[in-house]
Amino acid sequence: MSAKILDGKLLASQLKERLITEIHALKNSVHEIPRVFSIVVGNDPASLSYVTSQQKTAESLGIHYELQNFQADCSQEEVLKLIDELNSYDHVHGIIVNKPLPAHMNFKTIINAISPYKDIEGMDLTNFGLLLMGEDGIFPCTPAAALELLKSSGVNLKGKHAVVIGRSEIVGKPIALLLLREDMTVTICHSKTIDLPFVVHEADVVIAALGKPGFVKGEWIKNGTIVIDIGINKVEGKLVGDVDYASAFEKASYITPVPGGVGPVTAVMLMNNAVKAFKIQHQI
Ligand code: NAP
Repeated sequence: MSAKILDGKLLASQLKERLITEIHALKNSVHEIPRVFSIVVGNDPASLSYVTSQQKTAESLGIHYELQNFQADCSQEEVLKLIDELNSYDHVHGIIVNKPLPAHMNFKTIINAISPYKDIEGMDLTNFGLLLMGEDGIFPCTPAAALELLKSSGVNLKGKHAVVIGRSEIVGKPIALLLLREDMTVTICHSKTIDLPFVVHEADVVIAALGKPGFVKGEWIKNGTIVIDIGINKVEGKLVGDVDYASAFEKASYITPVPGGVGPVTAVMLMNNAVKAFKIQHQI
């Protein structure tokens, strides 16, 4: 058996088309476009290149994008003051605080200072609570992207067993909660899980989000499993996922490549969240 590829670039371009149409319709009805404000502290090259791609994606969709790049030695109070102002502006709909932050700042304090209506990364406690309670909210974009790719397989997910490897607040836990909403039976694994290959072998869907290149082997998965690889790791200058792609490709029914899988969809889901925030603030 060899897998069908769940193509993230293709799905991203389809989602973009849908968003462009939606933003156009919103512009016609409320005479305003969504506006996103992104904050970077310092000059971490990965962070600066991420904001460049955020800006490109936003502008290609018709979303206004603004950036504030603070010096690395600015105080946490300065960042909190800006967030406070942005929270109060009606014309700012989405706020992003990019990681990494300098060691003297507390990421959780900063994220939780963002209005839950404007936290388009969905990482504040209110949105996380809404996700946990099964209510509507703004949810983290990488897990949302992984779910979109999984759904694009067209496979009925109800009742199927999903094994999520990783329990971080940004990826593992939220994707597990999103899958539960799809009526999947969900197992969450982490570094203390006993006999991971055995647990993975029970899965109909494997979500790998552990940050270890090629860690999940094809031999672990049963024939026909859907494999969603969230991992992004750099090995000898190349991007690879958390799944050993070649061996998993032989066993899976569907698989996401790295690069070209979850990554491109994540960028669009962030802007999808901006549109969601815009609609919440306009009570649409
Ligand atoms: P993280 O915060 O480091 O969390 C890693 C998780 O994996 C932890 O829960 C850890 O368990 C678990 N883990 C580590 N080693 C393990 C092992 N040997 N067996 C089972 N579980 C193990 O990482 P993250 O932020 O969630 O990111 C995960 C991956 O997703 C990374 O490769 C990251 O680059 C990627 N990522 C991709 C995107 C995207 O857009 N595609 C976005 C964000 C992140 P413990 O909790 O027990 O330590």
